[in-house]
Amino acid sequence: MRTKIIAGNWKMNKTYAEALTLAAGVRDAVKGASHPGLLTLIAPPFPFLAETAKLAEDIPGLHIAAQNCHQENAGAYTGEVSASMIASCGATHVIIGHSERRNYFGENDATLLKKTMLTLEHSLVPVFCIGETLAERESKKHFETIAAQLENGLFPCGKEAMKKIVIAYEPVWAIGTGVNATPAQAQEMHAFIRACVEKNSGKEIAAAVPVLYGGSCNAGNAASLFACADVDGGLIGGASLRADEFASIRKSMLATLA
Ligand code: PEP
Repeated sequence: MRTKIIAGNWKMNKTYAEALTLAAGVRDAVKGASHPGLLTLIAPPFPFLAETAKLAEDIPGLHIAAQNCHQENAGAYTGEVSASMIASCGATHVIIGHSERRNYFGENDATLLKKTMLTLEHSLVPVFCIGETLAERESKKHFETIAAQLENGLFPCGKEAMKKIVIAYEPVWAIGTGVNATPAQAQEMHAFIRACVEKNSGKEIAAAVPVLYGGSCNAGNAASLFACADVDGGLIGGASLRADEFASIRKSMLATLA
């Protein structure tokens, strides 16, 4: 059975004190109800990685992710954060290629490939995000877009790397809009993503790769999305900013494991 993952992407939200309060709330939820088949991730902003990692240290199944990393290992890149720095703070995962990074910071397939490889070199797990825009879906180019993002930004990492990767399908039109993909749309795309992975890396790797759904997932719609055969969890933005709502989304996944 594939590992299920519930991940909270806090984006550029929370002060130091607020971040610690939220992390403590998530920690309590994980402590209160855990399952060996469920991994919970929180992705706070960079300044809070080390402290939140300390909070998560003794909680099995709770890990810390960074929201991004630079594509070079070190050097004269003022204001940037490297994969090695992230690993040294105690984080275990890095979100790569979120659509906000692609859109607002011009990250392209070549950059994302470098970031993914570097992340793996530092024993961090990349959570590789892909997703189509509304225009691409409306013009029926969504499958083509997703296949190209995988082929150009992820698959050149190689087969061995594919064993360690998490994929997040996040349709751009669903992120922060309150309009989630329907379970049927999510399942259709997740099955397509798995088929692309199978074509590239083989059946076994495709069967094992966790594919998360992201885009306006909340406590109300999580259960129906997580009931889909190829949806292995959620990457949650807005609804991860409150510990109680995040815990309730997490409970929907726990229910599928009961
Ligand atoms: C995200 O940004 O990864 C995301 C899924 O956001 P939201 O849940 O707010 O749509």
